[in-house]
Amino acid sequence: MTKDIFVIAEHRRGEIRDITFELLTKGYELSKDGGRLHTVLLGFQNEKMIDELKPFSDGILNIDDEKLKDFNAEYYQMVLSNLLQEKKPFITLLGQTAFGIDLAPSLATALDMPYAADCIDIEIDKERVYTEKQIYGGKISSRVSLVENWGYMVSVRPGSIAPKEGELKAEVTAITSPLKEEIDYRRFVQYIEAAKGEVDITQAEVVVGIGRGLKEDKNLPLMEEFAKSIGGVLACSRPVVDAGWLSKDRQVGSSGKTVKPKLYIAVGISGAFQHVMGMKGADTIVAINKDPNAPIFTVADYGIVGDLFQIIPKLNEKVLEVK
Ligand SMILES: Cc1cc2nc3c(=O)[nH]c(=O)nc-3n(C[C@H](O)[C@H](O)[C@H](O)COP(=O)(O)OP(=O)(O)OC[C@H]3O[C@@H](n4cnc5c(N)ncnc54)[C@H](O)[C@@H]3O)c2cc1C
Repeated sequence: MTKDIFVIAEHRRGEIRDITFELLTKGYELSKDGGRLHTVLLGFQNEKMIDELKPFSDGILNIDDEKLKDFNAEYYQMVLSNLLQEKKPFITLLGQTAFGIDLAPSLATALDMPYAADCIDIEIDKERVYTEKQIYGGKISSRVSLVENWGYMVSVRPGSIAPKEGELKAEVTAITSPLKEEIDYRRFVQYIEAAKGEVDITQAEVVVGIGRGLKEDKNLPLMEEFAKSIGGVLACSRPVVDAGWLSKDRQVGSSGKTVKPKLYIAVGISGAFQHVMGMKGADTIVAINKDPNAPIFTVADYGIVGDLFQIIPKLNEKVLEVK
């Protein structure tokens, strides 16, 4: 039995998606158990993507076929069920993304392979594979052991692994595409970009999260000014969106976005687990709340207990002074 780890690369319009680098980081760690790490790249005219992927694995299995230019789970399944059956990797990793959700369950079923979905961590312990999953909306972490098999499939939640720089030099192996016939019952038609808000909170290095503690939308300018002076963007908890103070694309949490800024300042946010799920990966968390027992303080690196309407203007003043 090999101990090889396969990562199925995800790309869109010729760009490798971030999840691929997250999977490769985990794959590298898992391959230290005696296996080799391979990136499996299905696409068309893959040269640029190969260059980008080279430092991240020992090998790249490159399947270059015009039919694979845009994602179509049917073609992917045809190629991968052959390849995985032949190479028999120990663990195959995919993202818990639209791509992985579409592909992994039916691929695992076709291969009769144990599959764990939406995992946040994976561990190999004495030939057994264990994954960590959050259940009950993130309230409980469960450790799942997979039934014994020659290989396992795991899809990993985006943002649960911090990607690292690659230091490897992958050897590229061209694999002949087994695709012969066109599939007409399922076709790629076109990309339609999701409408974007004016700011992308997932890309910001400093995020100021505001909660119901702000009381009314007429207090928003206070927070906007503060966010601007510290060079950050405004995000929020769900009640702020429900009240219509900020748009949905600013919501952080289980039904909003996951942010990983260098600094997250939670202002008037209690720290419900649905909110914390979306911001606990921030490098530094500062919480401002008048309730010393607010759960947000359990995840904060720094806490200020007090009234935000007194604290924020003072902090703002200090920031401007330092600037
Ligand atoms: C299925 C589901 C999905 C959900 N998804 C999300 C999600 O994605 N994101 C999310 O955020 N929530 C989500 N929620 C809601 C979540 O459970 C909480 O209700 C919500 O996060 C609470 O928001 P909050 O902290 O702003 O408000 P509250 O819980 O009301 O907290 C307000 C806080 O402000 C403090 N405060 C009040 N006045 C001041 C003041 N003057 N100065 C300082 N502090 C003050 C209070 O002490 C309190 O801690 C979800 C819920 C469900 C059921």
